[in-house]
Amino acid sequence: MNDNTPWVLRWTIRLLSVLLLFLFVWLQGFLIGDIDDMEGPDRQAVENKYVGPELLRSERELTQQKKELERAISRQQEIKANRREAMSVAQQTWNQIVQEHRRELDAGRQPTKELSSTLAETQERYLRATATVEEANNEVGELQQRQHALIIEEESLAGSLTDRRDNARRAYTRLWDAHRWRVAAVKLAFVVPIFLLSSWLVWKRSNAIFRPMILALLLSSFYWLGVVMHQHFPAEYFKYIGILAAITIVVAFLLHALRTAAKPQDDILLRRRREAYHSSRCPECAYPIPQEKGGAMSCASCGASLFSECPDCGKIRHHLLPHCRHCGAETERWRTLGRPVPEP
Ligand SMILES: [Zn+2]
Ligand SMILES: [Zn+2]
Repeated sequence: MNDNTPWVLRWTIRLLSVLLLFLFVWLQGFLIGDIDDMEGPDRQAVENKYVGPELLRSERELTQQKKELERAISRQQEIKANRREAMSVAQQTWNQIVQEHRRELDAGRQPTKELSSTLAETQERYLRATATVEEANNEVGELQQRQHALIIEEESLAGSLTDRRDNARRAYTRLWDAHRWRVAAVKLAFVVPIFLLSSWLVWKRSNAIFRPMILALLLSSFYWLGVVMHQHFPAEYFKYIGILAAITIVVAFLLHALRTAAKPQDDILLRRRREAYHSSRCPECAYPIPQEKGGAMSCASCGASLFSECPDCGKIRHHLLPHCRHCGAETERWRTLGRPVPEP
């Protein structure tokens, strides 16, 4: 891409380069996501190792027993409530018969045989109902006692589990940290070479035709480098790494700019000289060139050679431009300053 590239083409190249940048960012994101999925430590295995399968099994069994007991107690409470209701119905019936019996006696009548047997029957039913309620009560009491025993057993188990669990948690944290470092290392092993290679290519092959592609690769890998650092390094490290990387990049670009300014590249040098000759000024110091024709000439102000004899055709040519305007011969010396080298 140079100054003569049509603007449509120039913008198409820019647009495609930006698109390529996003595609590179996307692709590297997929790969980094896959690295993130690397299998970490197994929490269950660590717990088994530190707590022991025996204790874990007892804990599971205890929990199961407790759950079953709770269910049994609530079922028994229901039975008790039902029986108590039945008992109160039986009591009411019995009371009614007792009152009827008493009324008969108070009236001086002998209660009928039927009434007497009903009285005995209802009394019997009430007493039976009382017994079943008592039975249910005892059952609930027994279950609650077992529950209490289980709670005590659980507390003593929890005491010995807590220390082991703490150890397991610490061990798991250690393993997890190691795993995160490993993931970070694999990610960096993937991103850093891309970053270094593309920066080297951008640096060394500044005129290559594929430069926009390499630039897209460089920017995308730089982006992911930052993301990986931010994810895996604690903030206090990251801030130093980040600022050092930024300083390095700025210094590199500054050096490049300074070097370019000190030793202009051919096309910049050529443009500058063409413009200077065109406007009849010395390309080195901008002092006006006098309108004399035909002879060799140096700048009156800085001493740079402006016109000199062509080594090929012997006519007078522009000393600071690559070609002779008479014979077209090209020389290398135009790149050097027109100024004569001072004697040491
Ligand atoms: Zn000059
Ligand atoms: Zn010539």
